[in-house]
Formats: sequence, C-alpha cells, structure tokens
Amino acid sequence: MQVAVVGSGLAGFTAYQTLRRELEPGEIAVFGTDDDPAATFRRRAAAIRQREMRSESDGHCGPTSFPGLAFRATVGRRSPAPLVGSLCDRFHPTVREFLAHVERLRARSGWDASLHSERIERVRAVDGGFELDGHGVFRHVLVAPGHPGLNVPDELRADPRTVHAYEPHEYAPTVTVVGAGLAAATEWLNALDAGAEVVSVRRREPLRRALNVPREYFSRRGLAGFHRLSEGERAERLKVLLAPSYPPGRRWDEPLARAMMEGRFRVEVAVNGARQVICATGFLHGFEHDALLARLVDEHELETADGWIVLNFDGSVPALTDATRTLALCGVPAQWAFPAADTVPGAKYVAHGFLARIRSCPTR
Ligand SMILES: Cc1cc2nc3c(=O)[nH]c(=O)nc-3n(C[C@H](O)[C@H](O)[C@H](O)COP(=O)(O)OP(=O)(O)OC[C@H]3O[C@@H](n4cnc5c(N)ncnc54)[C@H](O)[C@@H]3O)c2cc1C
Repeated sequence: MQVAVVGSGLAGFTAYQTLRRELEPGEIAVFGTDDDPAATFRRRAAAIRQREMRSESDGHCGPTSFPGLAFRATVGRRSPAPLVGSLCDRFHPTVREFLAHVERLRARSGWDASLHSERIERVRAVDGGFELDGHGVFRHVLVAPGHPGLNVPDELRADPRTVHAYEPHEYAPTVTVVGAGLAAATEWLNALDAGAEVVSVRRREPLRRALNVPREYFSRRGLAGFHRLSEGERAERLKVLLAPSYPPGRRWDEPLARAMMEGRFRVEVAVNGARQVICATGFLHGFEHDALLARLVDEHELETADGWIVLNFDGSVPALTDATRTLALCGVPAQWAFPAADTVPGAKYVAHGFLARIRSCPTR
C-alpha cells in the first residue's frame, strides 16, 4: 500500500473522501483512535450546545464544493430557503444536518474498510517513503492529528470552579466565561438561557467575523499574498488571522443587550467570585504539544517558526517531500500553508494538493 492517513478525525476523513476519487479503499490505510470521524467534533459541539455550523454550504467533506449542504437541506427541509440563503453566504447547515452528511459519506466511501484502530507514535523517513511504527512503509503520508489539547490559563488550572467549554457541563447560577470567540459567545447565551448571571472576562473586545478567518483567505487568489510573506511576517499574520471571533448579527446582540439591561450580563477584566468559570480559551498552540509532531521535527531536524512546522504552500513538509514521496500535514498544523486549515474546506484544500502530488509521482 502506498498511501496512509494518520488521524481519523474530520480532517483525515475529508482528505480520505478526496483520495477516494482516484484510489480504492484497499489502497489507503487510515490510522486513528476513533471509528467515528466526527467523534471529537461531535463531543465539542455538544459541550457548547452548538446547533448551527459556522461554515456554509461548502463546509462538507465531499471532494468538490458543489453540490453543497444547501442543496441537500433544500430537499430535506422542502424549502428553497437554504439554496437562496447560500447565494448570499447566509446559509449555515445545522450541526445535525452536517453530522448526518458525515454518516452518509462514511457508509458509502469505504472508510471503515480502510481504518486501522491504531495510534501512530512515530513517522520516520526511510528509503521509498515513511515508516509508521511497525505498520510498514508508505510512499505518501498525510498527518492530521487535530489539536494537541485544550488550553486552560495557568492561573485557573487548579481552580475547582473551572471547566473548559469543550468539556461536558451544566451551568451554575453565576458563571464567568473567559474568552472572546465563538465558543465564548455561545456560552454567554447558553448560560443566560439557563437562567444564570453571566460575566464575560476577555483581554480584548471580540472581533466580529462571519467565518473563522477573513473570507478572502479561503480562496487560492486570496492566499497568494499570504504565501508571499516571509516566515516572520507569516507567523505574525497568523496571530492576527486566528484571533478569536464570532459572527455579527442580531442573534447574538439582542439577547446580550436584553441581559445587560436586566443586570444579568457584564464585562469584567478578571475572574471574580462566580460559582463556575468556563474557559472558552481554545486549544494549545504548537507542534511541541503533539508527541508525534514533536518527534518528527526532532528526528528530521525540520524547520519551525513560532510553534509552526514550516510547510510548502500545499501543506507538504519541504525537507521530506520530493517527486517520489510526500509527507503533508492537514488540519490545524497546516495553517502555515492555509490559514483556514482547521475547517472542513481547509482540509479539502490540503487533500487536493496531496492527491496532486500522488498523481504526479512517477512510481505511483
Ligand atoms: C465546536 C466546534 C465547532 C466547529 N465548527 C466548524 C464549522 O462550522 N465548520 C468547519 O469547517 N469547521 C468547524 N470546526 C473546526 C474543525 O472542523 C474541527 O476542529 C475538526 O474536528 C478538525 O478535525 P481534525 O481531524 O483536524 O481533528 P480531530 O477532529 O481532533 O481529529 C483528530 C483525530 O486524530 C487522532 N489522532 C491524533 N494523533 C494521532 C496519532 N498519532 N495516531 C493516530 N490517530 C491520531 C485523534 O485521536 C482524533 O481522533 C469546529 C470545531 C469545533 C471544536
């Protein structure tokens, strides 16, 4: 077998769907810890009671953008609203619709036949490809390990009131939410709905943005400027692009304004005496927090910058990729190549580049 995917989450799954355009299930080995590709996403979305996807019609795991989830929702809901909404970027599939789509693709794509329930500890470059623990040598390997862990501020780690937003929880009568992104905004509304008094603690005013990075960075054209940046500039730009944000709109503003008038929502600079502290503070950043990536960097002396592994524009690792073999990263570690890599369309971007490398490989 020539091709392996390490990581069985949404990014690995989305890449698998693209690979399946040209490869049979028996030609792709997927190594992962969960059979269900949506397991991690499902758990986190359920923890913050997310009902609607932030992404739009093209936020699906199939290999092409069209037909998107708006098309199916139009049929499923017996209403033209999803298709009409998608014309002006106003359609967001429900989480339930998205998960049903993943289930359908899982059943018909051969995913379960390709999946090996194994955690990979080590990816080692050898003649003709990459050795994955004792599982053999693969010429083309895509590594999609997801985020390396949840981020909780040091000063709150030992506080018994603390829970991370992405861990299951209910709401106490008084809640402090730390953070300023979509998870924080969702938690403000959840806690208010549950009858709590809510304090928002944040370092800066929240950014309002429809998608998690500006829309232009989802297109190849928009990416050209990003790819022209020097390493230092690119690391700085990523800090700005990946700053926490949540969408604009009355859906968020009205309940907050109402709660503010009722004295049930306010902003403070530090954690106070609330009964519960919810950290909507995202994930740990940096390859060094992921054992597999840290070892890969260490053993192959890969170039890094500010917690990122430096990548080619298509997500492949320059020192370990040539005409005859490919090592590419997908999902969050590929943000160096594509700032929106930690989204389903982002995983698709890397997957297409990976498949193009396989296609052009003379020994395929
Ligand atoms: C609440 C929430 C809402 C989101 N909403 C959207 C949205 O609306 N639209 C959108 O496009 N994106 C959205 N995202 C972002 C993105 O789609 C998810 O983060 C997605 O789960 C990322 O998939 P992944 O495969 O990179 O990581 P994960 O889903 O975390 O999967 C990684 C998998 O790889 C396994 N793994 C790790 N290391 C190894 C190893 N060494 N060997 C074998 N297996 C390994 C892990 O155990 C895990 O099963 C959302 C994310 C969250 C948390």
